[in-house]
Amino acid sequence: MVEKEKLLSRIPAVHRLAEELARRRPGFPEVFYLRAARRTAETLRQEILQGHLQELSEADSLCRAEEALSQEARSHLRRVVNATGVVVHTNLGRSPLAKEALEEILEVARGYSNLEYHLQEGRRGSRYEHVRDLLRELTGAEEALVVNNNAAAVLITLNTLARGKEVVVSRGELVEIGGSFRMPEVMAWAGCRLREVGTTNRTHLRDYEEAIREDTALLMKVHRSNFAIVGFTKEVSGVELVRLARRHGLGVVEDLGSGCLVDFARYGIRREPTVQEIVASGVDVVTFSGDKLLGGPQAGIIVGRRELVERIRANPLNRALRIDKLTLAGLEATLRLYLDEKLAVEHIPTLRMILMPAERVKQRARRLARLLKKAVPEKACFSVVPTVGRTGGGALPLADLPSFAVAVKVEGLSAEELHRKLRLGEPPVVGRIEEERFLLEVRTIFDEEFPWVAEALKKVVQGDGA
Ligand SMILES: *Cc1c(COP(=O)(O)O)cnc(C)c1O
Repeated sequence: MVEKEKLLSRIPAVHRLAEELARRRPGFPEVFYLRAARRTAETLRQEILQGHLQELSEADSLCRAEEALSQEARSHLRRVVNATGVVVHTNLGRSPLAKEALEEILEVARGYSNLEYHLQEGRRGSRYEHVRDLLRELTGAEEALVVNNNAAAVLITLNTLARGKEVVVSRGELVEIGGSFRMPEVMAWAGCRLREVGTTNRTHLRDYEEAIREDTALLMKVHRSNFAIVGFTKEVSGVELVRLARRHGLGVVEDLGSGCLVDFARYGIRREPTVQEIVASGVDVVTFSGDKLLGGPQAGIIVGRRELVERIRANPLNRALRIDKLTLAGLEATLRLYLDEKLAVEHIPTLRMILMPAERVKQRARRLARLLKKAVPEKACFSVVPTVGRTGGGALPLADLPSFAVAVKVEGLSAEELHRKLRLGEPPVVGRIEEERFLLEVRTIFDEEFPWVAEALKKVVQGDGA
């Protein structure tokens, strides 16, 4: 008891601890020092009372306080190691950006820019000009517009072209994406009426034809981006739909979801229709995301017939859904890479990861396993195992990516406990559990992150992880 009181008296006073922290690690808001000092003092007190602490020096307290300050100073939104194998992971920020995009964002963000200024003529310009020609060149469309995200692109397209009217959609395409984007709800908010045709697995051209009435504005196709219907199925192609629409003087809109500009079949992966193909098929307006397969920043891209896209641009909603300058900077740089497909597939992380051959993933998994073994020579074992990766993020629902992971076992820790500790580490590592094994999927881990994973695991095994 006496011992505990002696230890308690050694806990530094909060204000003194805060001052010392401020002296050693200047530059943070005042409250961070106070909070860190308070938290440290409280933790030490609890540990002493519970008999977990037998010694306490000034240096110990300070060391704890510095650790607390580091936690306090950490951003809430931060970098995470994606070891799930899902390339476009909606919960982990979808697409990491190419170096070129990051540099452009920094440059534009650091100072002022010609966001809405026409440098040649010295007058007000348009923010949409920066990517318009690029998008036209890459997709073959007459006109292009970018908004905040693809949900916004669909909303403003339908609101502009079909408000107060009917839009015909196949029942097999009434998708929900990530719980918050449901086509029927988006239609309702856009002010148009949904006219469902066909059945879940089969929709025929005559189903569309019979649904066309006086107040039909559009025929719509929605790409089934996150699921597939297999078996006894029938779906009407864009070309057939366009022909039908033309006969009735209607427009065709397609929500492509992912928006791929590269023909994956050329790389031995199940093909996804490209934006260029959809545009060439005669669809009037096509919408897609900037941060799914395209591998750029969050954005919604609208391409299509000039007259229609111009009407969409003029919709007052556009002011509320507009794209910001950082996104534009990143999007322009990403799109520029697509001018040379070789550059795109090498430099855009999303494409590089999806197209990484299994053999290469295996080599990298072996390298990671060796690195982990070196960092943690005892109490853990590592093995390279074959797995199946996914592109994720509403893309290629059927495309399995043969992949490899490092399975990690740590003595005395279940797979769940190990995963929890790694998630709470610095940087957080999010992996995958399969059949009670903890897996680090290597396809989605950057080379530069390998040492971080080793360091994080070392901390967990040494017991100073959370
Ligand atoms: C992902 C997706 C959306 C939504 O796009 P966001 O960029 O997330 O707003 C809409 N439609 C389809 C088919 C999608 O796959």
